Order: sequence, then structure tokens, then C-alpha cells
Amino acid sequence: MENVVIIGSGCAGWTSALYTARANLAPLLFTGAQPGGLLTTTSIVENYPGFPEGVDGFELMQRMQKQAERFGTKIRYERVTKVDFSSRPFKLWLDDELVETKTVIIAAGASHKHLGLENEHLLEKKGVTYCATCDGAWPMFRNQPLVVVGGGDSACEEATYLTRFGSKVYLVHRRDALRASKIMADRALSNPKIQPVWDSVVEDIFDVKQDKVTGVKLKNLKTGQTSTLDCAGVFVAIGHKPNTDIFEGQIELADDGYIVCQKGTYTSVTGVFGAGDCVDRTYRQAITAAGMGCAAAIDAERYLASL
Ligand code: NAP
Repeated sequence: MENVVIIGSGCAGWTSALYTARANLAPLLFTGAQPGGLLTTTSIVENYPGFPEGVDGFELMQRMQKQAERFGTKIRYERVTKVDFSSRPFKLWLDDELVETKTVIIAAGASHKHLGLENEHLLEKKGVTYCATCDGAWPMFRNQPLVVVGGGDSACEEATYLTRFGSKVYLVHRRDALRASKIMADRALSNPKIQPVWDSVVEDIFDVKQDKVTGVKLKNLKTGQTSTLDCAGVFVAIGHKPNTDIFEGQIELADDGYIVCQKGTYTSVTGVFGAGDCVDRTYRQAITAAGMGCAAAIDAERYLASL
């Protein structure tokens, strides 16, 4: 039986692995489908302390993994598919394989939100994407007008990144003010290749018949007017939803799916702890996720000592 199983391999997961490994608990970490989590898909991280020149998101996650491995973290590149926290030891399944553990740290992160349009789904990877850093350099986007949807840090970061490839980047936002931090917003809005399209939403994406993105239908929410905009790519950056589907009915979740924690990182089931973007809808930074991972590890360690 395991002492600690960690679900997730983002900043929260690796930090809780590092701390529980150093506490000689030999943690077992399941990376999930995307080892390193969403940060591996970002470009330069400029606000993680200790890296004055910035650090590539993928490299940061690899460094965290190495540090956790150095102290004895066991890693499995697999996805937990089912859990049962109703009795002890806690049970987790990887399809048919059962793993039993005294404690669980859930650091499952979050996934990109979708617009919910039928054609968005049909044109995914054919011009619709959720990650400029992963897909922005594709030939189909070179010297073409591109659309980024959203008004947060991600949208600004993606729009700025895409100016390397596209002829022009339209930043379509549903309000007339960005939610992004001032530095990211200023950087995007001062870029001559980025044109904001305020108060507008994407109502449809064309052209399924051609099997590629050729444009979008926009609606101005203030005037009600609709228009079309030619583009070769649609980059959706409208936030995230927590990866908590498998925990439904097992621990308390808020209406929007975030894990409810009290007393630091304790979930509604004693011995199951939560950390990072699957818990935190407020700060959602790499450094706060890492901090929560540290807190979850300390909570798990103290709980184990109390048994
Ligand atoms: P976010 O801050 O939640 O912003 C989502 C944006 O999408 C908002 O502008 C929102 O509009 C818009 N939106 C949401 N649902 C929409 C819909 N259905 N249709 C159209 N627009 C919609 O998400 P994020 O930008 O991904 O950032 C998440 C967290 O990561 C934040 O805490 C951010 O600071 C952090 N982050 C940091 C960096 C960095 O510092 N380098 C980079 C990326 C992300 P409203 O504004 O009207 O709500």
C-alpha cells in the first residue's frame, strides 16, 4: 500500500512530490495525460521567482520533475480513471489496475474551456486551437490573419506570440476592457500587429466544407450587429475548467467543479488533499500552485504522523 498518491504533474503535483519524497514517504505520482500540465504548453514564464531572465514553461516543469525524482518520487505516466474514497485505504484505478493508499493529493489541474460552437469542435486542429505555443508555427497560420478569443493573460500572451507568424492578430473580447494584468495587456495593445475587437463574441467559425478555418462570424454585444472576419486560425483562450470529473460524488466540489478545501488543503474527506488549479479559482499562478502543493504535502505528512 502507498503512503501518498499524487494525481497530477503540474507545479502543485511536483512540489507536493518533492516535499513528501523528502519526508521519506516515497510518493507515487500519476502524471495524467499531459505530463507537466498546462505550463508545458506556455512560452516563457516571466513571473516565477528565481528566474530573472524568465524560463521556458516546459523546462521549468522538467526541472521540477528532476528535483522530485532526485528524492525518490515514483512516477507513472498514466491517468487515474476512477477513485473510491468512501473507505480506507483509499482506492484508485488505472482502468483495471487497483492502487491502494493511505493519503491522496489531488493536483489534477485544469483544462482549456471551449466556446461550445459546433464548428469549433469540427474544425479543431484544422485551424481552431487552444494553444498558440503548441500550434502557432503551423504553416497554415503563416502570414495570415488570425483571431484570438478572450481578454485574460492567456489571450494577451497568445496574441503577442502569434504576431511572429500571422499577418495580423485580432483580439476578440466580449467586453471593452481586458481582464489581463497590466503588463500583459499593455504589451498586447501596444503591438501594431494586434487589433482589439471589443464587446464582441465569436458566433460561428467557417468553413467546415473546406475542412479548414477561413473566417469567423462576430456579434457586437452592444449594438447587436453581426459581421464576418477572414482568418486562417482561431485561438481560444477563454479560461479553464478544473479536471475534477472523476472526483464527483467522492469529495465536495463547488458548482463550477472546483474542489472545496477547508483548513488549508483538507478536502471533505480526511486524508485526501487538494492543491493547485483544481482548487484555486482566484490566483491560478504557477507559484501559488507550487505553494499549495507544498502545503498539501505538509498536511499529508502531518496527517500520516497522526495515524
Ligand atoms: P481568465 O483570466 O479566466 O480569462 C478568461 C477570459 O476569457 C476573460 O477575459 C473572459 O472574459 C473571457 N471569457 C470567458 N468565457 C468566455 C466565453 N464563453 N466567451 C468569450 N469570452 C470568454 O483566464 P486566462 O487568461 O487563461 O488566465 C488564467 C490564469 O492564469 C489567470 O490567473 C492568469 O493571471 C494566469 N496566467 C498568467 C500568465 C502570466 O502571468 N504569464 C499567462 C497566462 C495565464 P471576461 O473578462 O469578460 O470575464
